[in-house]
Amino acid sequence: MDTNNFLEEIIETHLAEGKYQSIVTRFPPEPNGYLHIGHASSICLNFGLTLKYPGYTNLRFDDTNPSKEEVEYVDAIKADLAWLGYTWRNEHYASDYFDKLYEYAHVLIDKNLAYVDESTSQQIAAQKGSHTQAGVGNQYRNRTIAENKHLFTQMKEGAFAEGTMVLRAKIDMAHPNMLMRDPLLYRIINSTPHHRTGTTWCVYPMYDFAHGQSDSIENITHSICTMEFVPHRELYDWFIIQLDIYPSKQYEFARRNINYTVTSKRKLLQLVTQGHVSGWTDPRMPTLSGLRRRGYTPASIRNFCEKIGIAKRENLVDYSLLEFCVREDLNQIAQRRMVVFNPVKLVISNYPVGESEVLLSENNPEAVEQTTRPLTFNKTLYIEADDFMEVPTKKYFRLAPGQKVRLKSAYIIQCTNADIDGEGNILQINCTYLPNSKSGEDTSGEVVKGTLHWVNATDAVTIEVREYDRLFNVENAATEEEDFTTYLNPNSLNTVFALAEPSLKASTQADKYQFIRKGYYCLDSDSTTEKLIFNRTVTLKDAWANKGK
Ligand code: ATP
Ligand code: MG
Repeated sequence: MDTNNFLEEIIETHLAEGKYQSIVTRFPPEPNGYLHIGHASSICLNFGLTLKYPGYTNLRFDDTNPSKEEVEYVDAIKADLAWLGYTWRNEHYASDYFDKLYEYAHVLIDKNLAYVDESTSQQIAAQKGSHTQAGVGNQYRNRTIAENKHLFTQMKEGAFAEGTMVLRAKIDMAHPNMLMRDPLLYRIINSTPHHRTGTTWCVYPMYDFAHGQSDSIENITHSICTMEFVPHRELYDWFIIQLDIYPSKQYEFARRNINYTVTSKRKLLQLVTQGHVSGWTDPRMPTLSGLRRRGYTPASIRNFCEKIGIAKRENLVDYSLLEFCVREDLNQIAQRRMVVFNPVKLVISNYPVGESEVLLSENNPEAVEQTTRPLTFNKTLYIEADDFMEVPTKKYFRLAPGQKVRLKSAYIIQCTNADIDGEGNILQINCTYLPNSKSGEDTSGEVVKGTLHWVNATDAVTIEVREYDRLFNVENAATEEEDFTTYLNPNSLNTVFALAEPSLKASTQADKYQFIRKGYYCLDSDSTTEKLIFNRTVTLKDAWANKGK
C-alpha cells in the first residue's frame, strides 16, 4: 500500500491507543442535486477508511431544508453510491432526528443557553459585529427561560409567520469566532412541506445544530468534512459539551475541484434549469450520472480519487488525470470494434464479384481469455478518407498509389490508383489484395508498416456519434469575472455520423468499446434500434495536451 494520508495516520493512532476499537464514518449529502466528481472524493475517503479499518460507514441525507430538497435527488444519490461500489451500513435522514433535535433545543433553553429572537435578519446581521468589532446583544437575549420555552413551543406549533423569529444559542456576542456569536439554531419554515415529514414541522434546525448532533446520535467517531467547516468545529464541540452527548469529532480536508468544469450543485443546477445541458445526466456534466452515461467506469473514478488523494490545501485537479484513469481501465476491458468516420470507398479489383468470406477479429488483445467476432469481407469496403494520400508525404505508411497496408484482421492490399473528380474529390480507391496474406495465416512474406480499420459496404450500419469536449473554455469558470455560464464552451458537443461494423447493433449500455484508432465509446441512453447513438467517452490520446501548446 502507498503511504498513509493524514486521516489514516490519525485513525491508526486512535486505534493503537485504544481510543476506539473500531471507527464509524458517514457520507452526508444534502439531497438538493446530483452527486458530482468532487463528492466522489469524499465518498471514496469515508468508505475507504472503513474498508481499511474495522468499522462502518453510514449514508445520511442532510435534509434539513425542505425548500430545496427532492426525492428524485435521494434516489439518484443512492444509485450513484451503489454504482461506485460502496455499501453503507445504515441509511439515515437528519429529518429522522427532528424530535431528538427539538428536545436538544429545549435542553439548551433549560440551561439558559438559547433564546427566541424576534429581530429581523438585517438586525441580527448588524448586531453580529465584524472580525475587528465585537457584536452586541439585544433585548431578546434576556428573556426568561419560561418565556423562551413557551415561544419556541409556539414556533413549532405554527403560531408565527415565517421569518418572524428564530431560536439562537446564547454563547458570547463578543466571541473572536463570529460563528460563536449566538448562532441561529432554528428557523420557521411553514410554506413548504418536507419531503419526508410533510407539514409536521413548522421549525427546522440550522445546518450547524443538525449536523453535529446527527453525528453524535449515530456515534460517528470521525466526522470528515471540507475545510470551510474549520471555524464551525468550535461550535460543533460546544453543542456536544453543553448537551453532554456522544463526542463525535470533526476533521477537515480540502475540497477537490477539477479544471474546465464546475463542482457545485448550485452551479450545476443552473446549467440544467437554463438549458445549457440536457439535464443532470448529460454526458458533459461532471456528475457521477453524467460520467456514467459518458462511459466512465466506477473503477476509473475510484482510481482517480485514490490518485489525487487528500490534502489540507485546495488545488485544481487536471481534467486530463480523470481521462488518464478512464483510458487505463477501458484499455483493459473495452471490446475493439471498427468504425469509419469519414468514409471513402475502397474496391479490391482482384476479389471475385459476388463473393464474400467471414474473418475473425479479436475482441480485446488485453483480455485474459481471447475471444473473437466474425466480420464479413468482400470486394467493396470503406476506409477513412485520411488513410489515403494521392501524393504521400515522407513517412506516410498508410495508403497511397503503389503502397501496401494491412486491413485489420484481413489481408494486405496494394493501392493501384484512385478515381478523382474534376474538383479533386476522391470518389473511390482501387487496389488489389494478396490472397496469401490473410491475418493469422499469412505466407506472403510481406512486411507492411500500416494497419487500417475498415467496414464492409454491404453490412455496415450508420451510427450517430456524440463527441464531447471540455464544458468550459477556461480552467476555473467559477473564479472569473463574469457569470460562469459566459465561459461555457460552445463546441462541447459535436454530433457526427459514422459507418460501423454490424456487431454494434447488439450493444447494450453496459458495453464498453474501443473504436480502433479512435477512442473509447459506449451506447447512449437515447439510442434506439432504429437509431444507434454512441458517446465518445474519451479519445485514445490526450488531444487536449497538444491543443494547449
Ligand atoms: P456543493 O457545493 O456541490 O453543493 P456541498 O458540500 O454543499 O457541495 P453536500 O451534499 O453537502 O454538498 O456534500 C456532501 C459531502 O461531500 C460533504 O461532506 C462535502 O464536504 C463533500 N464534498 C462536496 N463537494 C466536495 C468536493 N468538491 N471535494 C471534496 N468533498 C466534497
Ligand atoms: Mg451543501
